[in-house]
Amino acid sequence: MAFNPKVRRYLVIFLIAGWAISLSCFFLRSNKPGCRKQKTAQFYRDNRLLMGTFWEVTSPDKKAGEIVFSEAKRIENLLSKYIPESEISQLNRTGRLKVSPETFYIIKRSKEFWQETGGAFDITVAPLVDIWGFSDQKHKVPSEGLIKDTLRLVGSDKIILHEKDNMVEFKFSGMKIDLGAIAKGFALDCAVTKLKEKNISSCLINAGGQIYALGKGPEGNWRVAIQNPRQRQVSKIIELEKEESVSTSGDYEQFFFDNGKRYSHILNPLTGYPADSGIFSVTIVADSGLTADALSTAVFVLGKTKGTELVKKFNNIEIKIAE
Ligand code: AMP
Ligand code: MG
Repeated sequence: MAFNPKVRRYLVIFLIAGWAISLSCFFLRSNKPGCRKQKTAQFYRDNRLLMGTFWEVTSPDKKAGEIVFSEAKRIENLLSKYIPESEISQLNRTGRLKVSPETFYIIKRSKEFWQETGGAFDITVAPLVDIWGFSDQKHKVPSEGLIKDTLRLVGSDKIILHEKDNMVEFKFSGMKIDLGAIAKGFALDCAVTKLKEKNISSCLINAGGQIYALGKGPEGNWRVAIQNPRQRQVSKIIELEKEESVSTSGDYEQFFFDNGKRYSHILNPLTGYPADSGIFSVTIVADSGLTADALSTAVFVLGKTKGTELVKKFNNIEIKIAE
């Protein structure tokens, strides 16, 4: 996801045409006398490649795009395992580092999600991500022995957090963390905080299919369409009534075939193998990007029954599974 340098092969969620029609009415009104020009405010759209994916910002405020992009870039510089100077890369190299409050916060929240999801969400999967070739796109099925050895480095209980000085420490050498399943959601939340500080109250951010909706769009609530990743057709339209985030995790984002079997980039931290829970995509709607992002990954690992049970433990979560 977010931190992989290769841009996602498919966008799972795309914005439905409602507001696009409004936009075209505004810009093309001289040629289209039927457009209701008085009712539709001007919305600007801006896009950028960040965190390994395509970000699109739609807002009546021209400055929104730059605010969102610079915040996402700041978070990427802190958390990306692909940027050698990032705090996460330094920690992965040294196994012990005093980090910024934000990095400490996201590692701490990730540990909590590990606990709450019974280990399905686990940022210490990084060494597994490496041996399956998802970090450098040199995909391969590792030997059982290598998977077993690597599993010794996995488990968020092996991350030690020292609250008093924001020190993060790994219990074993060789451990690494990968925030790819949560950092984009966190970046969305941070970007929205910045927008609010600048009194921007209407904005839709689509970060490669991960969405944050703030306020209202040109014609009322923001609406997003979820696409069925296999059939490539709209399977559901979600209307976002309040401030909400939508996150989708699926097996179509990064995957490879070996001997006719499909292996995807979301791994089951308990087995060391790519998740094989019988679903091919899950969409979560939550009140924060961080929660939506973490839970969509976890539910993808857990599957329909356990995943549906899990989200009941959280408040106001909507879930949609494709299988
Ligand atoms: P997402 O697209 O948000 O579901 O995140 C998937 C990315 O998170 C993968 O590309 C890996 O970098 C990382 N990842 C894989 N499996 C897990 C897992 N079980 N828990 C946490 N992160 C994972
Ligand atoms: Mg995620």
